[in-house]
Amino acid sequence: MTAGRRRGAVTRAGALPDTSAPGAEYDVVVVGAGVVGCAVARELARRPLRIALVEASGDVGEGTSKANTAILHTGFDAVPGSLEARLVRDGQRLLADYARETGIPVEPLGAVLVAWDEEQLAALPRLAEKARRNGHRTTRVLGAGELRAREPHLGPGALGALEVPGESIICPWTTTLAYATQAVRSGVDLHLDCRVEKADPGAPHRLITPRGVLRARYVVNACGLYADRFDALFGRRDFTVTPRRGQLIVFDTFARSLVRHILLPVPGVLGKGVLVTPTVYGNVLLGPTAEDLDDRTATGSTAEGLAALRAQGGRILPALLDEEVTAVYAGLRSATEYDDYMCAAHPALRYVTAGGIRSTGLTASPAIAAHVVELLADSGLVLGAERPLAPVRMPNLGEAFPRPYRDAELIARDPEFGTIVCHCERVTRGEIRDALASTVPPGSLDGLRRRTRARAGRCQGFFCGATVRAMFEEAGHPWPER
Ligand SMILES: Cc1cc2nc3c(=O)[nH]c(=O)nc-3n(C[C@H](O)[C@H](O)[C@H](O)COP(=O)(O)OP(=O)(O)OC[C@H]3O[C@@H](n4cnc5c(N)ncnc54)[C@H](O)[C@@H]3O)c2cc1C
Repeated sequence: MTAGRRRGAVTRAGALPDTSAPGAEYDVVVVGAGVVGCAVARELARRPLRIALVEASGDVGEGTSKANTAILHTGFDAVPGSLEARLVRDGQRLLADYARETGIPVEPLGAVLVAWDEEQLAALPRLAEKARRNGHRTTRVLGAGELRAREPHLGPGALGALEVPGESIICPWTTTLAYATQAVRSGVDLHLDCRVEKADPGAPHRLITPRGVLRARYVVNACGLYADRFDALFGRRDFTVTPRRGQLIVFDTFARSLVRHILLPVPGVLGKGVLVTPTVYGNVLLGPTAEDLDDRTATGSTAEGLAALRAQGGRILPALLDEEVTAVYAGLRSATEYDDYMCAAHPALRYVTAGGIRSTGLTASPAIAAHVVELLADSGLVLGAERPLAPVRMPNLGEAFPRPYRDAELIARDPEFGTIVCHCERVTRGEIRDALASTVPPGSLDGLRRRTRARAGRCQGFFCGATVRAMFEEAGHPWPER
């Protein structure tokens, strides 16, 4: 821990700290512990401030942040001049550096935007020019022959591509967890299972939760799909969130040799379109769909959605359809009626919104955090002198980097790393034990999966499920699985 700094508390139940006495209130409460809220809390932890991060669900990264396509975008195709374009460009650089520092797995595979008809082929120079306006000068148009040499398993009919070096794949779960871990170790209190149901704006603000009232001088809204509803608690009606569902299919690791780059489509009106990409865990993803819905909880997959994906995937990479499917999942993007992030300061209210963080929020997260801290300062928050954050080094979940089961020295020191519990994903007892005892321990078996990959493989826990559950229960986690 950094000298002179207390570690923050992580709570999941019971009364919240008493913030009722004058001067006992939090300086800032960040509401929502997705990748954005966790990044903001970490950024604020650099300052001598009393910070809380509060989350409705029982873990960090339980909302949109757990179900995306896990690409660290370059932002080559953002709307030039938009806030999103700036924050994605800066976020990409900041997150790549942060990943190196903390051990978040990243693989810079590069992307190719494949043109399947003459119209798409004609759009490539325009996209290259847009990329240039976004500061990316290394894109290059590839002819059909060069493209096929690069991606020999592509389906027939690919006419050419735009090569985008620098597009990378990343572990989104470790990213959110690294921010939260570093924030807590640097003094931020993390209150889980703590939905803010009402707000009583004032000096200080009162945030009403089922676990009691939190008082705060400043509030940050990082509520993802509920950012507009949270805004309404502060009397703001600046935008409306429309959940845009993205369904995805995860193919088993045997499919990994079929694809070398991130295969992107030429983008259309509904967003980035359906892609095929490897994951850092060695799987291959196909998706996402883009469906505008009313229901903010509709994270189910549908037969039509999956059939449409298979049809598109079969054109891009026909052999993919012969591979085993490990899982399907869906995430909901926070689309709004505007084409940009909805980040705004409301100085009179001492309140900042980070809403409308749509399909690039993982990449942009560290830059959004820095921007939000600037907005807080513009709203009158005295930040104080910057100080170093407590260091973190995250367990590696990436296949391209040394995993514990392959590390003879580590196993000699600690034989628990030599005992494999989840054979599909080769997760050891040592990794599960350490995750259960970590700074932000999992609140459920799914949370444990996101920290270790246990139960994420082709058998989906059929073989290891009972052992993993026993370890989870033995570690003294009384809360039920969600
Ligand atoms: C299919 C799909 C693919 C994507 N692909 C990529 C990609 O490849 N690369 C990329 O950079 N981005 C991608 N994204 C976007 C990225 O995942 C999101 O932008 C990002 O996760 C948004 O994070 P967030 O913290 O704003 O929201 P969330 O992760 O949803 O977090 C918001 C949190 O607020 C909590 N909350 C809400 N209301 C309250 C309340 N009243 N009190 C307390 N807590 C509350 C919620 O429980 C939730 O945990 C993708 C998204 C989707 C859906």
